[in-house]
Amino acid sequence: MRPMLKLQGIAVSPGVTIGEALVLDSEGFRIPRRFVARSAVDTELERLSKAVAETAMEIARNRDAVHAELGEQYAAIFEAHLAMLHDERLQQELISAVRDRNWWPEYAVSRTLRRYAKVFQGLDNHISQRAHDIYDIEKSLLRNLLGQRRETLAAISQPVIVLAHNLTPSETANLDRRFVQGFATELGGPGSHTAIVAEGLEIPAVVGLGPFLADVSGGEPVILDGNQGIVILQPDEETIARYRLELEAAKTVAVGLSLLRDLPAETLDGVRVQITGNIEFPSEAQQCLSRGCDGIGLYRTEFLYLTSPREPTEEDHFAAYSEVVRAMPGKPVVIRTLDLGADKMRTATTPEEERNPCLGLRSIRLSLRQLPQFRTQLRAILRASALGDVRVMFPLISTIVELRQARMVLADVMEDLAEHGIAFNRTMPVGMMVETPAAVMMLDVFIKEVDFISIGTNDLIQYTLAVDRGNKDVADLYNASDPAVLRLLQRSLDVAREAGVSANVCGQMSGSVMYTQLLLGLGLRQLSVPPSSIPEVKQVCRSVSVAECRVIAEKALSMDGAQEVKAYLRDQLRRLLAQAVALCDTAV
Ligand code: PEP
Ligand code: MG
Repeated sequence: MRPMLKLQGIAVSPGVTIGEALVLDSEGFRIPRRFVARSAVDTELERLSKAVAETAMEIARNRDAVHAELGEQYAAIFEAHLAMLHDERLQQELISAVRDRNWWPEYAVSRTLRRYAKVFQGLDNHISQRAHDIYDIEKSLLRNLLGQRRETLAAISQPVIVLAHNLTPSETANLDRRFVQGFATELGGPGSHTAIVAEGLEIPAVVGLGPFLADVSGGEPVILDGNQGIVILQPDEETIARYRLELEAAKTVAVGLSLLRDLPAETLDGVRVQITGNIEFPSEAQQCLSRGCDGIGLYRTEFLYLTSPREPTEEDHFAAYSEVVRAMPGKPVVIRTLDLGADKMRTATTPEEERNPCLGLRSIRLSLRQLPQFRTQLRAILRASALGDVRVMFPLISTIVELRQARMVLADVMEDLAEHGIAFNRTMPVGMMVETPAAVMMLDVFIKEVDFISIGTNDLIQYTLAVDRGNKDVADLYNASDPAVLRLLQRSLDVAREAGVSANVCGQMSGSVMYTQLLLGLGLRQLSVPPSSIPEVKQVCRSVSVAECRVIAEKALSMDGAQEVKAYLRDQLRRLLAQAVALCDTAV
């Protein structure tokens, strides 16, 4: 057996899990050595033969198109590809690799065709060029095999820990929570939307591990530690036992925290803090409620695109919003308009190719260019406002013109609804997200034209520090503790307070208890956090006094480096921890 291998990645969704590895691959990187269970050989052979047939069809289509455009001579290239693909010896080798050696079809294709290609490459004449043709065939076969990856994900029927090169937000959203205990990926950064979905679905996850799949064949034991960002392949008995103890301890803490559900998030010196939930899917509203939230502070509506194969209609929007509003009687629900583009869902309306998608046509910019889509969403939000305390919020506002245009469209849609006698709340509060340094610098102007603000630290950190939130290679530079970020937060909260406008922080930072004291000390009284973070954040709020938090915030603001701030905040949390556990016990 291979020795234990401990890998360090980026922790993006908390929780520890121990299970069996399932490896998922994609085109363009090494296919690891994996084996097929004897009972699955026939199914896998069928999959292989289907991929061969699909590849042959693709090649034939290309041949016919090229024949029509360029003539027979060029079409002959594809004729040769077809002949190679159907070569009797090659086909027998592939089948025997799966049937007799129990190789995974992807591995059989990759190994066999690469061996053929190497033979051609070794020939010192024009025939060596044929190696490229073989790589082409390998690529198409793998694409057709791995194209069934979605089905592979959907077909998971036993508990596994998914190990993948990368997972898109949509693949993550479609993971079957009953069987997928956790996932780890080679790519991905701390603020990516895959990470956000994982946290929403409460699937422990580690991303940005770098290349490691070549060391896994699938089926072996794995420990995934989503709290520390650690993945352990082939753990030894001692390590498994240690983690099992940790899991037991976590269960006890969770029971203690669940008892806080009906208690208010009130500090020791009597300041009431509002803790609302961030959701991506309507079903998460119940999870927030069962943890004692004060409402929904951020509903990321763009995730509607994940669950619908087509452009959502007004009724799709309305059905989703009303489900959330009905689940939150008497509590606020902040619905954010579509924040499409960048690393989120790309749709028919998002540009095909952008050099810098995070700086491109995303979010409110896209909505303002796609008015019919924007109006459809606003109509649904307004209709939902007749059912409860709905508030609307515009993402990524960077200029006053964008804010005014968005408000104008909203006013126009209101008129439309009124003309048709459709019920809505004419005084529905309108807010904006503060996610760019420009928005912070101009906040004294914006604040006069909104009812509330919500600080999106995920993007604010990205744009302030010029660090891609989804890139593992600069993940160490993506830091909520950076003094520049703290100063922007301080300024935003000061401006909002002076204007008497309510402010919350809805970036991932507000769900991390390391920052709770700092944020309270900066004057924040509303935190919008992922559902799983509600109990812990509430516990910290109930364990501190605002007076102490102010001292902590002042001290942090006086520091000049992110690492110094982080170490200080970590110390402050540690100091609080023993005391907080004791308080939790006395509260019940
Ligand atoms: C943010 O940027 O902090 C935020 C909450 O929005 P999102 O993560 O959806 O971009
Ligand atoms: Mg954002």
